[in-house]
Amino acid sequence: MIKTVSLRILPEDISDSSAVKKAAASALKTSEESIDAVQILRRSLDARGACPVFQIQAAVYSKESVKPLFEPVHYQPVMASTKNVIIAGSGPAGLFAALRLIEKGIVPIVLERGKDVLERRFDLKQINRNGVCNAESNYCFGEGGAGTYSDGKLFTRSTKRGNVKKILGLLVQHGADTDILVNAHPHIGSNRLPKIIEAIRQTILACNGQIHFNTKVTDLILEKQKIKGVISHDKSFEADAVILATGHSARDIYYLLDRHHILLESKPFAMGVRVEHPQSLINSIQYKKHARNSLLPAASYSLVCQAGNTGVYSFCMCPGGMLVPAATAPDELVLNGMSNSLRNLPFANAGIVVAVGDPCFEPYACFKHFKGLKFQQEIEKSAFNAGGQTMSAPAQRLTDFLADRVSADLPKTSYIPGVKSFPIAQVLGPFISDALKNGFHQFDKKMKGFISDEALVLAVESRTSSPVRIPRHADTRMHPQICGLFPAGEGSGFAGGIVSSALDGETSSDAVAEYIG
Ligand SMILES: Cc1cc2nc3c(=O)[nH]c(=O)nc-3n(C[C@H](O)[C@H](O)[C@H](O)COP(=O)(O)OP(=O)(O)OC[C@H]3O[C@@H](n4cnc5c(N)ncnc54)[C@H](O)[C@@H]3O)c2cc1C
Repeated sequence: MIKTVSLRILPEDISDSSAVKKAAASALKTSEESIDAVQILRRSLDARGACPVFQIQAAVYSKESVKPLFEPVHYQPVMASTKNVIIAGSGPAGLFAALRLIEKGIVPIVLERGKDVLERRFDLKQINRNGVCNAESNYCFGEGGAGTYSDGKLFTRSTKRGNVKKILGLLVQHGADTDILVNAHPHIGSNRLPKIIEAIRQTILACNGQIHFNTKVTDLILEKQKIKGVISHDKSFEADAVILATGHSARDIYYLLDRHHILLESKPFAMGVRVEHPQSLINSIQYKKHARNSLLPAASYSLVCQAGNTGVYSFCMCPGGMLVPAATAPDELVLNGMSNSLRNLPFANAGIVVAVGDPCFEPYACFKHFKGLKFQQEIEKSAFNAGGQTMSAPAQRLTDFLADRVSADLPKTSYIPGVKSFPIAQVLGPFISDALKNGFHQFDKKMKGFISDEALVLAVESRTSSPVRIPRHADTRMHPQICGLFPAGEGSGFAGGIVSSALDGETSSDAVAEYIG
């Protein structure tokens, strides 16, 4: 027999299976001896009360064998067919699209502009240590896309877009910890992701899929509004269908589509800063007198408010993490955050961003569907110049930012390329900086102590989502003008984040399978 119970477990008991069993027996008013196993199905931390406590949902088994938390997919080698399907980009959307094509018996041909995960590491070192950004290999471009050296937070609100459990199960099948299947806010960590991406590559290759690195799509072969293939420099690849999963940083792809007069749309997105606090400060705000309890995870936050006529919110919070330079061109500055699986660095950072749309894009209106992209690029270039034309980030103490004062000195930061004191309102412009100031004051009311002399504001967090949408039919997933072109993932403007992009990749492959019959 299996019964499901909800339990509240103290942090000191959460890893103690006998304590959990005792709690389950008490909840079910039965004896511990009658219980064979307790399987945790879901776990979240409730830190709202006087004492933080884990809320768990568990399956209690008696005289029945424990069911697995997920069903692995058994991938079988696929035979070469007469139809070619190309996937441009090997980020979460591209890789999960490839896995899904294999499930459907179709050979995926993945073209990736960057290098494999191992080689990519050398280019990341170059950005961090020497401020040199390789436009083909960086935190966004290369095997696994922006997902490989990302933080690996897997929480998504896109639960209606597909089978989130399956995506998490596939990550476990390729080496992620099973904890991601039960944690309400699953997280893998940047140290673990590269191995998982390599394992996914092995699955694709073992099933006769192809992956070509250093193979940037530079042109499309089109015939009578139908895709016939793609070109990578001097090489062409024939295709009956192309899944375009190049991410939202591949501006050259948007320009390529525009050159072919393929319909694009401008879309609103969000921009702002990264804010870094000492993790101990966030712990003391969130856990109060329990802040030093080492059994509690590094505390996080999620904040949102309305500032005048726009929204301000925290984005991609990284407890115990570090800031990284996520630019894709040598003359831009873009910040992002990541953390290792243990989340044990002494810093907590998050994007604090402002929703931006047409009023901000007004000066760039002549660029039509590229007006948001131009606005984004302009601010990234301005941040690069303010930082001293290296990967150094312009920065200010949060208190100085609010008082419009240049910081005389700056607190310690996790950002390896370094920081330069600069009035960052000059980088962001009045719309974003005024909304941020308003937002920070509201956040401080929700989290007393958020505004602190120890908090550092760094510019610029600009790649929250795509500034351009590549339209597609809701049902066929195909571009309305070009037969056989399937925009997918974050770069299409229809997805955002690792899991949502992976789901989008899967659904695009289903649509391709239907299209090519
Ligand atoms: C530092 C960092 C931390 C992040 N943390 C998180 C997180 O914790 N949780 C979360 O959900 N999301 C996070 N993200 C965002 C997440 O990584 C993206 O949302 C996700 O990777 C988007 O997936 P995608 O496949 O659509 O695009 P991408 O991951 O951007 O992949 C696109 C791929 O296409 C390739 N490509 C581009 N142009 C071409 C071309 N012309 N020809 C061939 N290949 C091309 C690129 O090299 C890249 O590999 C983070 C991002 C960064 C940078």
